[in-house]
Amino acid sequence: MTDTQAPVDLLVLGGGMAGLTAAASAASQGAQVILVEQGEQVGGSAIYAGFAWTAPSPDVMAEVNPHGDPDLADVLLGGFDRGVQWIRSLGVDCRPAVTVLRYGRGHQFDTTHYLSACEQRIKEHGGDVLTRARAESLLMDEGTVHGARCRLPDGSLRPIAAKWTMLATGGFQGDPVLRAQLIHPQARDLQLRANPHSDGDGLRLGLSAGAAVGKPGAGFYGHLVPAGVPLSDPSTFVDLALYYSEHALLFNLEGDRFVDETIGDHITTMALLAQPGARGSWWPTGRCTGSGSPAPTSRASRGSTSSPWPAAAVRGARWPRAWRTSICSPPTGATRGRRSVPRSRLSTAILVAAARAARTTGG
Ligand SMILES: Cc1cc2nc3c(=O)[nH]c(=O)nc-3n(C[C@H](O)[C@H](O)[C@H](O)COP(=O)(O)OP(=O)(O)OC[C@H]3O[C@@H](n4cnc5c(N)ncnc54)[C@H](O)[C@@H]3O)c2cc1C
Repeated sequence: MTDTQAPVDLLVLGGGMAGLTAAASAASQGAQVILVEQGEQVGGSAIYAGFAWTAPSPDVMAEVNPHGDPDLADVLLGGFDRGVQWIRSLGVDCRPAVTVLRYGRGHQFDTTHYLSACEQRIKEHGGDVLTRARAESLLMDEGTVHGARCRLPDGSLRPIAAKWTMLATGGFQGDPVLRAQLIHPQARDLQLRANPHSDGDGLRLGLSAGAAVGKPGAGFYGHLVPAGVPLSDPSTFVDLALYYSEHALLFNLEGDRFVDETIGDHITTMALLAQPGARGSWWPTGRCTGSGSPAPTSRASRGSTSSPWPAAAVRGARWPRAWRTSICSPPTGATRGRRSVPRSRLSTAILVAAARAARTTGG
């Protein structure tokens, strides 16, 4: 095939939630679509996800994402109900709205079914889904993008011409160098808690076409996890996440508090990354289970009742006996705000945290 082949209407690079949704929606409206996915299968990080959710209002969005882009927030909030209708229109089970991660509102849905329904919709309308195929460069003509060169599984390079080309290759979480450059030097060693194939190709391709980039220091979406516990098995991603750090006090390795933990776990996670060693001690506050371990209140709203503590313990995590045997309370003198506690009080608090780098919206 050559660049002169008739262009398809839409070429989608990346077959995660964004790319599949766009391709299926365009195909439904009669567009001729090709989707290119470098993984073995489509789905990207969404194969681990379970909820369509966001903040319930612009005010809450601004509170939990203080440095977010208000225009993007408006698009997300304004289009959310239509998105839920779209999921249901594919025959996918999408449950009634519930609270998600304390501040959010959203619907649990069968993501596996959704992803396969999108793929099917594309094919039903005559589109192509190419897996194990990687977009390597953009086809450009006088500054205009008109497709991409894609490496196919047999090693050949296929130029695919298109009227519209969509970059939906996810974030750059799979590239430690980009993480260090664009997030924080300590982000190089973050454990990855997302699909590993999204390694910045969209960024590189966009820059090659002269695209503008977002503002520096935009942060990332991640969660605290027990330190020293490898996240090598994706089936443990959800079980090991400490989604509810807003019910805890977090100290750095010097014994100082450094963030208002009540805003949201993703904010706490970003703040911890900039602390020495990107590790800290995690003290549960009021909301504890009868066994003395912190209650997974936010997780409960995710439809999960399992606790990360047993899962972390069998993988080598440790924490103070008191957490398991007594009612949890904050250490004396440590209250909301930036206050420190005596270093001696931290001697047994050894649940520490790392984070994941992912340009994601939830979970
Ligand atoms: C454990 C976990 C739980 C989550 N839970 C939720 C949740 O409940 N609710 C929620 O809203 N969000 C959740 N998320 C976040 C959500 O999954 C992501 O925000 C979303 O899936 C991102 O979709 P995306 O299409 O933008 O990117 P990705 O999922 O990263 O997809 C990009 C795709 O592009 C492909 N690709 C990359 N480079 C190339 C290339 N050069 N050529 C071809 N293909 C390429 C990749 O292989 C990948 O399949 C969760 C994430 C994780 C990891």
